[in-house]
Amino acid sequence: MVSEFMLQQTQVVTVLDYYRRWLERFPTVRTLADAPLEDVLRLWEGLGYYARARNLHRAAQVIRDGHGGEFPRDLAAIAALPGVGRYTAGAIYSFSYDLPAPIVDANVARVIARLIHLRIPIDTAPGQRALWAAAEEFLPPENARLYNSALMELGAIVCRVRAPQCLICPVLSYCAAAPHDPELLPIKKARKATIPLTEDCAWTVHAGRLLLQQGVGSRWKGLWKLPPLTDAAIAANSEPMMHLTYPFTHYQVTLRVYAEDPPLVPGSNQAWCPLDGLEAVAMAAPHRRAVRQLTQARF
Ligand code: SF4
Repeated sequence: MVSEFMLQQTQVVTVLDYYRRWLERFPTVRTLADAPLEDVLRLWEGLGYYARARNLHRAAQVIRDGHGGEFPRDLAAIAALPGVGRYTAGAIYSFSYDLPAPIVDANVARVIARLIHLRIPIDTAPGQRALWAAAEEFLPPENARLYNSALMELGAIVCRVRAPQCLICPVLSYCAAAPHDPELLPIKKARKATIPLTEDCAWTVHAGRLLLQQGVGSRWKGLWKLPPLTDAAIAANSEPMMHLTYPFTHYQVTLRVYAEDPPLVPGSNQAWCPLDGLEAVAMAAPHRRAVRQLTQARF
C-alpha cells in the first residue's frame, strides 16, 4: 500500500529513497498510525500531492482502530480505506494476497483499449467503464498476481505508446486494433492549455524568526509555507527578493517573494519559526526551495 500510494503520480526512481526511509521510520501499521501528522508530512516532503501522505496516515489509523491493527484481506474493506481507489485496491489485493481483482493503470488501459479497439476517450466516465468492464471480463480466477504483473509488463514493454511490437505480441490473435493502427489508441480528451499563475508571498523576519503560515486547503493542508503578501503595493513597486516557477495541475505557477514588515499580530494559522529550526518544519516543496535560497543567500 505504501509503494502504491507513493507511485501514484511519481516515478519509481524518485520513490525508492522515500520508500526506504518511510519503512525505517514506520515499519508497522501501528507506528504510522501513532505518529504525529507533522512527522508524516515531513517524511513525505518533496514527493508532492500530500493528500497521499495524509490518507496513508488516516488509513493506518482506520486499520489500527477498525481492524485490530491487521491489514484487511477483503477487497471491499481495502477499497474503503482513505485514499484507496479502485486501482489501488485491486493492486493491493492481487499483489499482496494473489487474489483476483482487476487493475487498470496507464499501461493496462492502453493494452485493453487496443485489444477491444475502444473508440471513445479513456479519460471519460464511459471510457473508464468500458476499460474496467473488459478488465473484469479478462481476469482469470487464479494467479491474479502473475496475470496483473504480466498485463502491466505487456503494456510497458510490448504494447508501447509508440511503435507497439505487434509481431511478437502474445495476444496478437485476440487484438482488434492490430489490423488497424494501434498507435492511434487509446483516444484521450484534448489537453487543457497551461495557464500562468502568480503567487506573491511575504518574507518577514523578526528577532531571528521567520513568519510562516500553515496550509488549511486540500492542496497543502498541515504544511507550512510563506504567508501571502498582504500589501499588494509592494509587489507593484519593487522587485521580488527571488522568484521560482513550478507546475501545479495545468498551471505554471510563478512564486515571487517580497520583503514585508512584521505584522503587529500574526494572522490565523501563522507562527514565528526560528531561522535555525526551519529544516525541521514540514514545508510545501516550492516554499522550501524559496526559503532555502533566501536563508543561504542572507545568513
Ligand atoms: S497486438 Fe499490438 S496493439 Fe494489440 S495488444 Fe499486442 S502490441 Fe498491443
